[in-house]
Amino acid sequence: MGNLTRADWEARAQNLKIEGRAFLDGQYVDAADGKTFDCLSPVDGRFLAKVASCDAADAERAVQVARATFESGVWSRMAPVKRKKVMIRFSELMLEHAEELALLETLDMGKPISDALNIDVSGAANSIRWSAEAIDKIYDEVAATPHNELGLVTREPVGVVAAIVPWNFPLLMSCWKLGPALTTGNSVILKPSEKSPLTAIRVAQLAIEAGIPKGVFNVLPGFGHTVGKALALHMDVDTLVFTGSTKIAKQLMVYAGESNMKRVWLEAGGKSPNIVFADAPDLKAAAESAASAIAFNQGEVCTAGSRLLVEKSIKAEFLPLVIEALKAWKPGNPLDPETTVGALVDTTQMNNVLGYIQAGHDDGAKLVAGGKRTLEETGGTYVEPTIFDGVTNAMRIAREEIFGPVLSVIEFEDAEEAVRIANDTPYGLAAAVWTSNLSKAHLVGKALRAGSVWINQYDGGDMTAPFGGFKQSGNGRDKSLHAFDKYTELKATWIKL
Ligand code: NAD
Ligand code: MN
Repeated sequence: MGNLTRADWEARAQNLKIEGRAFLDGQYVDAADGKTFDCLSPVDGRFLAKVASCDAADAERAVQVARATFESGVWSRMAPVKRKKVMIRFSELMLEHAEELALLETLDMGKPISDALNIDVSGAANSIRWSAEAIDKIYDEVAATPHNELGLVTREPVGVVAAIVPWNFPLLMSCWKLGPALTTGNSVILKPSEKSPLTAIRVAQLAIEAGIPKGVFNVLPGFGHTVGKALALHMDVDTLVFTGSTKIAKQLMVYAGESNMKRVWLEAGGKSPNIVFADAPDLKAAAESAASAIAFNQGEVCTAGSRLLVEKSIKAEFLPLVIEALKAWKPGNPLDPETTVGALVDTTQMNNVLGYIQAGHDDGAKLVAGGKRTLEETGGTYVEPTIFDGVTNAMRIAREEIFGPVLSVIEFEDAEEAVRIANDTPYGLAAAVWTSNLSKAHLVGKALRAGSVWINQYDGGDMTAPFGGFKQSGNGRDKSLHAFDKYTELKATWIKL
C-alpha cells in the first residue's frame, strides 16, 4: 500500500463499482419509495452514483429489524469474547479494503487520498479494534453490600441506537460510534451525511462478512430532514448519537423531548483557540502547527485551530512564519498522493467559506494569505488556505464556525486576556497553549473551557483520550472507555440472601 500514483488512483476510480443502496437486515435494498439522489464528486464534479434517499418508511423498517435482532439475543447476548473476535475481524476487513474505502471517501468528499488512507481508514479500523479489545476486560461491580444481601451493579446495552454523522470524516466519525455501540451488544442504524454516504454503505457488507449478524448494523442514506428526523423522532429508538453542527444538535434534543425522551449524545461544532505565548519553546514548530491546524482536511475539522491567539510582543516575528508554513498547504487534485489540501465537500460549502472571506473583508480584517477560489477549471470546489490578521473576537470570522481553511489571527497582551478571549465563544471543543513555562501551561490549560487541551502541540491524542465538548460543542465523549457510557444502561440488582 502507498506506492500508487495519481494515474493509478484515476484508473481505479474509473473501474470502481459504487453501491448506493441502503443496507437493511443484511441486504442492499432500494428506498421504500424508490427515490434516489445523485452523488457528485467535489474533485471535478463527476457523477459517482445514485444513492437511496431513505425516508420515514425506511426508518420504520430499520427500527423494527434492529429491535427484533436486539431482542433475539443473537448479538446482544453473545459472549463478549465472541463479539470481540467478530469486531476485530470487521476492523481487519476494513484494512484489507483500505484502498477501496479511501478512494470512495476521497471521491465522495474531496479529501486528499493520502489522508483518506493513512488517517481516515486506518483510524476507523483502529478505533473499532480498540473498542473490541476492551470488551472482555471490563468488569461490572459488586456493591458494598451487607452480609445477608448482594448488590450487583451491571451494564446492559441500551437496545436500538441511531447514529447520525457528518461528512468531514465520514467513516472515522461513524466508527467512533460503531465501535462501542456494536461491541456492547446494541443494534445500530447509521445515517451518513447526504454529502458522504459511500463508505458507510460499503462497510455494512464488510460487517456481515466479519460475522456481525444481519439486522444488527443497518445503514440508511438520505437527508437530515427526512430519514434523520424520522429516526430522531422514533418512539422505539433508545439512544441517538450525533456528530454534526450545533444547530442540528439542538434540534435533536427537541425531537427527543417531543418523542420518547431517547438519550441524546452530541458532538457538535467548535471555534477552537490556539494560544501562542512569547515563551513558546519553538516558534517555527508552533507556526507549522498553526498552519496545519487550519489547512488539514481543508479546514473542515470540528477541532480546527481557527482562532490563532498570538502574544503581541512576538506577532511581527510569528505571523510571517505562519504565512510561510501555509505554503506547504496548496490545493490540488486529491487523487494525487502528494496533495495536502483537496476540494471542499460541495458547492454550498465552498460558497459558505467564500462568504466568510467576504465577511472578513467587510468587518475590517486584513487579508495576508489566500482569500480566493482556485482550480476552478477542474470543475471542483477548491479554496486557498486563507489568513486574516487584525481580527477582533467580535468579528463574524472569529465567532462563527466557518468549517473551511480560514484562519483568524487575534492579538493579546497577557495570559489573562488570552484566556478571556479564548473562552469568549459559545463553543468548547478544543484549545492549545504554547509556552515553556510549566505553571503557565497548567494554569491556562485549567482555565480553558474545552474538552481537549493541547500543550505545545495541536490535535494530540489517540483512542485512549476521551473526545468531546464543553458548552455548545456537545455532551458525552467519543473514544476511550468513557464512550461506553453512552451505549449502556446501569442496572442495580439487589438480592436478599
Ligand atoms: P449537520 O449538522 O448539517 O449534519 C450532520 C448530520 O445531521 C447529517 O447526517 C445530516 O443529514 C443530519 N441532519 C441534518 N438535519 C437533520 C434533522 N433535522 N434531523 C436529523 N438529522 C439531521 O453538520 P455537517 O454539515 O454534516 O457537519 C459539519 C458540522 O459537524 C460542523 O459543525 C462540525 O463542527 C461538526 N463536527 C463535529 C465533530 C465533533 O466531534 N465535535 C466532528 C466532526 C464534525
Ligand atoms: Mn459526496
